[in-house]
Amino acid sequence: MNYKLNICHLYPDLMDTYGDKGNILAITYRCQKRGISVNLENVSVGQNLKSATYDLFFFGGGQDQAQSIVGEDLLKKSDIIKKYIDSGSVLLSVCGGYQLLQNYFQTKEGQKIPGIGLFDAHTVGSDNRMIQNLLIEIDPNLNSEIENSYPTDNLPSNFLIGFENHSGKTYLGKNLKPLGSVIVGSGNNGEDQTEGAIYKNAFGCYLHGSLLPKNPHFADYLIAKALEKNYGPVQLEQLDDEIEWQAHAKAVEKTRASS
Ligand code: GLN
Repeated sequence: MNYKLNICHLYPDLMDTYGDKGNILAITYRCQKRGISVNLENVSVGQNLKSATYDLFFFGGGQDQAQSIVGEDLLKKSDIIKKYIDSGSVLLSVCGGYQLLQNYFQTKEGQKIPGIGLFDAHTVGSDNRMIQNLLIEIDPNLNSEIENSYPTDNLPSNFLIGFENHSGKTYLGKNLKPLGSVIVGSGNNGEDQTEGAIYKNAFGCYLHGSLLPKNPHFADYLIAKALEKNYGPVQLEQLDDEIEWQAHAKAVEKTRASS
């Protein structure tokens, strides 16, 4: 079977802090190694999203000022993005992107930037900048799915490791599931030990880094889910992830040691 993955990178020119584009590179690399062809489209302010095209969206982080420009444009794309998510497309969002997919983001100065409400959550800017490595334990249900999609018998880790830098504190609505629970770092708000959010196949998180190069299990899960939309359940070919897991283990070890 010749698989093809259509990726849409949202606002790469305005929302791409701390190497977020590395997530696209990791996905593309892991697909190419397996002979899965990748079609990547960048869509920014004033550009239209095509309908029925994309299997996977990526939306990175950005500064408050960029968020206010992007937020206004995103409202025009709200319906089509929600339609994609309802029909099984995958979305990974980090920090500023994650915030704009919520009900609203209120900056520290009090400016309220409306979001598209894909995630029933909101974020309020604070005086406290949460900046450090962030280690989380993945939600157990999601972790079992990740275990199934990662092509080895034993999954080496049920953690995600990344780097957070945000002043916004995110609070989830009562039915919205977090991506995981915080082991080291602040996560959503530094108060309730939650990190990120899961809605259908859309994921929000504060994990910059880049995230996916050193979390190959999550990268493969996103790829498998995105392919599933067009091809049904897929079994991904195993890759040599020795270096990726070394990077993961080292980052986890350093993060634990610093706490
Ligand atoms: N401006 C947002 C905050 O500080 C997002 C920052 C980011 O994307 N790194 O909360």
